Amino acid sequence: MKINIAKSSGFCFGVRRAIDISLSLAGNKKPVYILGDIVHNTHVVDRLSQKGIKKIKRIRPVKDAVLIISAHGASARVFKRAKECGYRIVDATCPKVRDIYKIARRLEKKNRVIIIGDRGHAEVMGIAGQLKKKPITVESADRIPVKQLARVKKAAVITQSTQSLHNISSIMGRLEKIIPLIKLYNTTCRITAAKQKEIEVLSQGNDAVLIIGSSTSANTKRLYQISREINTKTYWIESAKDLKPAWVKNAGKVGIMAGASTPDEIVADIVTVLNIMVG
Ligand code: SF4
Repeated sequence: MKINIAKSSGFCFGVRRAIDISLSLAGNKKPVYILGDIVHNTHVVDRLSQKGIKKIKRIRPVKDAVLIISAHGASARVFKRAKECGYRIVDATCPKVRDIYKIARRLEKKNRVIIIGDRGHAEVMGIAGQLKKKPITVESADRIPVKQLARVKKAAVITQSTQSLHNISSIMGRLEKIIPLIKLYNTTCRITAAKQKEIEVLSQGNDAVLIIGSSTSANTKRLYQISREINTKTYWIESAKDLKPAWVKNAGKVGIMAGASTPDEIVADIVTVLNIMVG
């Protein structure tokens, strides 16, 4: 069996940067907390927790502690509250996500902002939290908030960094029929786009495809959706323990693509187990 690992598999630069920033704070004299998950991967979160960096869900007053903002970013209100509660903030927001904040704030001056993204995802909430007027979030073409959009005359559409081109264009097709003046500002990250392009090729050229990442990872979910459309023998796993021999039993070629927040060690473990499985 030949194993083909995608060139763009694994950490993107924003994730690597956020993890490095967090690790540099391990062993700090002051307590160090992370608001939510530093990135959406349980192995990474566990590793940081073992280093003494604790995850918190709510910001409560503290004495002399450090708060890391995750790669997904956070709203302006979160930053304000953290300062008021006495934290020293270390901002690990991906610079690409910060670029989306700037674009959203600029567009808000003359448009109603619409975000194509996953409602409730930390990145989408962070973008929304930069704006004076609550933006409208649209997740998919079959869940268009028609009533909410009926009063919008002029809109600027931005996208969560991990969206797929397919989802964006099917949503835009619906929105253009509802809103008279509408323009798309595609803020999908270049690295996400490269991964999505590569998974199309990988899923066509292999008998089975393994997509590796946590169930909470938005970019992994997109990679799985794209691959599954092309190759029904696509399987989404978090680690080697999820592998089933039947999936690869008669496969001559197996493609592997890891999400942007999946560490290389996880992929290496999977390759080892695959090799054992085929003897
Ligand atoms: S996928 Fe892109 S925007 Fe998201 S963290 Fe990675 S580099 Fe940043």
